[in-house]
Amino acid sequence: MTEQPADRAHYRLLVVEDEPSIRTLLESTLRLTGYEVSAAETGQSALVEIQRREPHLVLLDVMLPDLDGFEVTQRLRAAGNDVPVLFLTARIDIDDRIKGLSSGGDDCVTKPFHIDEVLLRIEAIPRRTVVQGSEPLIAETVLRYADLELDESAHEVHRAGHYVPLSPTEFKLLAYLLANPGRVLTRAQILDHV
Ligand code: CA
Repeated sequence: MTEQPADRAHYRLLVVEDEPSIRTLLESTLRLTGYEVSAAETGQSALVEIQRREPHLVLLDVMLPDLDGFEVTQRLRAAGNDVPVLFLTARIDIDDRIKGLSSGGDDCVTKPFHIDEVLLRIEAIPRRTVVQGSEPLIAETVLRYADLELDESAHEVHRAGHYVPLSPTEFKLLAYLLANPGRVLTRAQILDHV
């Protein structure tokens, strides 16, 4: 989809986690891997930090002392901020996963996690924000797969350059499938999302 940054040092991550041991583990490991990392302990401070530092990706704990991770994501999306969000959730709960994705999150990692899994998930999330630090966060609203192009903001689909008329449900379904390329989605996941 989009290209990976060659230089992780220009890729800013924000770790939002109220549990000190997990926060420290994530912060130090990600920093050692070469990322630029900052951290927040609450939902409110996460929102402030996102505004201030414009991270390229947010690792967001779901259970926080104030706003939960879903709420934080909903507020970001409502404000037009499209920063990718990787949820850290303590429960292996399909409802949580769906809730996370429908609140505007990109992926979930279940705790306890292996740090390698977190690193892989970070690499797997499409880079849809600007890599240069000084530029503003720009949302990529066009999803592409082969010759299909779906423009989320214009609510239009083109195939090989030709406009494809779709019902709202068909549009949502296609958007959901395009947002999860190569993943096996269950019927329940799709129905709950669309
Ligand atoms: Ca927590």
